[in-house]
Amino acid sequence: MRDLVIAGGGPAGLALAAAAARRGLDALVLERGALPADKACGEGLLPAGVRALEELGARAHLDPSAHAPVRAIRWIDGARVAEARLPAPGGLGVRRTALSAALLAAARAAGAEVRERAAVLGHRRLAGEVRVETGAGEERARLLVAADGLASAIGRREGLEGPPRPGRRFGLRRHFAIAPWSDAVEVHFAEGVEAYVTPAGPGRVGVALLCEEAARDAYPRLLARFPALAARLAGAPTDSPLAGAGPLARAVRRRTLDRLVLLGDAAGYLDAITGEGLSLALAGALALGAALPAALQAGAGAASFAAWERGERLRYARYAAVTRLVLALARRPALRARALDRLGRHPALFARLVAAAVA
Ligand SMILES: Cc1cc2nc3c(=O)[nH]c(=O)nc-3n(C[C@H](O)[C@H](O)[C@H](O)COP(=O)(O)OP(=O)(O)OC[C@H]3O[C@@H](n4cnc5c(N)ncnc54)[C@H](O)[C@@H]3O)c2cc1C
Repeated sequence: MRDLVIAGGGPAGLALAAAAARRGLDALVLERGALPADKACGEGLLPAGVRALEELGARAHLDPSAHAPVRAIRWIDGARVAEARLPAPGGLGVRRTALSAALLAAARAAGAEVRERAAVLGHRRLAGEVRVETGAGEERARLLVAADGLASAIGRREGLEGPPRPGRRFGLRRHFAIAPWSDAVEVHFAEGVEAYVTPAGPGRVGVALLCEEAARDAYPRLLARFPALAARLAGAPTDSPLAGAGPLARAVRRRTLDRLVLLGDAAGYLDAITGEGLSLALAGALALGAALPAALQAGAGAASFAAWERGERLRYARYAAVTRLVLALARRPALRARALDRLGRHPALFARLVAAAVA
């Protein structure tokens, strides 16, 4: 019997596989799609995420043509601009396919087994083990980790899904073959929609559009709401197919049951406006990897993950508080104007707030 089966080979699942295998655990990842995987994402990795990549041994595997340093966050609302430098070690803009390839290499190098096109179809939690159903038969493990993304089918089957959250928002992303004009992630604000611009390589810029349900529209029409950005991108060839996701906000009742843990987006998500999902997923995976040897020895019951779950609740609560604050600014133009004026005049204050938010 394996120590753990991980459902989902996204950043959370692959990071956990690397962290667990580095501790000598027998980890199997089952990913329903092909790897490396692409996904709708703003692709900004905050300093905590960069540190996690280092710790997992994945940073060295990043394709140099598919990532770029990010040294600041810049908020732009028409003529109003406020910029905060990021704390050390800075951030990265990373094409999702490159991030996936690097985490896959780190997981395999650590000794984890990763199977592609191997969907988890069902599972049964029994006394002392979990049986995981795949198209190619059953896998037995002491623990199942559901890292199966926003719409976690495993979480839903277990009744862990929380009530729908109000204020549904959606994301769309596309890349443009153009040299980044800045080492900042830019967040442009307009009525009901934000554009999240990330350098994702020496010759590539990603533009993710986040919008309220009432503002949903085709990508080119949403982009046209940001005339200066649209003018900058005019004529640049597109460098990826359009990809979307949503509704973004998902609640869970809890993250652990006996022999089952939810990780990454599967464990709850609020919004992409602060660009924190990847860092949360990687940090959560590292913490879970550290907790696994003792938890498995104790039988992998929910109680053996209590300390990890408390840590995740705290991490999530901080992320949720900051995200709600930024969403409030996005939704209230007058408040946003005042905040940008103030933060624009006091970049050191903005940098301190960002450092406290992303530490
Ligand atoms: C528009 C948008 C912009 C974003 N921008 C940023 C950003 O700039 N910075 C940031 O940090 N975060 C950002 N995020 C959030 C980030 O994309 C997620 O937090 C991150 O992908 C979570 O990783 P994950 O591994 O939990 O889930 P996912 O990346 O969704 O991976 C889940 C994996 O599970 C697999 N899977 C699902 N079901 C099964 C099954 N039954 N069997 C096997 N495999 C299965 C899927 O194929 C997938 O590969 C953004 C999100 C959106 C939507």
